[in-house]
Amino acid sequence: MAKKQFKAESKRLLDMMINSIYTQKEIFLRELISNASDAIDKLYYKALTDEQLVFNKEDYYIKIAVDKAARTLTITDTGIGMTQPELENNLGVIAKSGSLAFKKENEVKDGHNIIGQFGVGFYSAFMVAEKITVTSKALGSDEAFKWESTGADGYTITPREKDSVGTEIVLTIKENTEDDQYDEFLEEYRLRAIIKKYSDFIRYPIKMDVTKQ
Ligand code: ADP
Ligand code: MG
Repeated sequence: MAKKQFKAESKRLLDMMINSIYTQKEIFLRELISNASDAIDKLYYKALTDEQLVFNKEDYYIKIAVDKAARTLTITDTGIGMTQPELENNLGVIAKSGSLAFKKENEVKDGHNIIGQFGVGFYSAFMVAEKITVTSKALGSDEAFKWESTGADGYTITPREKDSVGTEIVLTIKENTEDDQYDEFLEEYRLRAIIKKYSDFIRYPIKMDVTKQ
């Protein structure tokens, strides 16, 4: 499949985000965990009204896995997943996020503070990742798809195998530069601290899986 371009509005925001109006890169993890939690919530609410759907609490969790050698940080959830059009519509349009639109309006007034307080969404992961690969299988679907992007140059969506319903997001973490450090986002203790700081209230278990060197 040919590479698709982000909508113009999204592109501008993406540039802004990558060129870091943010001082706190770490908030990307809060955003991805909150999306994972939202996705499990959606399944949970569906199960309340759908008798065919059984929600066993122990089957629902968010997993964080680090592979230092591969420089990857993977966030997996057992939530509702995304269909191909949902991948396209939800991840292809940055400005869609209500919180982001709100933030944009208020940015001028209060600079960084607002940015730290409100959700900035999925794209904040580009602050730390040179490549993002999202593999998702939607509830009720027997096919899965992979969305992949290295940032402002667009994204691709291709079919891919995935056994269980849910979403797996693999971030390939940027290399350190003279001015910016990214290695810390591959350190277990650092990730645990970020999770504690921002995601303590999440209702589902957050499991950590670390590949030993
Ligand atoms: P927001 O959460 O404010 O809607 P985001 O940029 O964080 O904005 O996410 C955009 C959309 O992408 C979400 O609304 C959701 O539909 C979809 N999405 C993101 N992550 C996931 C996920 N892990 N599982 C299912 N859908 C997701
Ligand atoms: Mg979100």
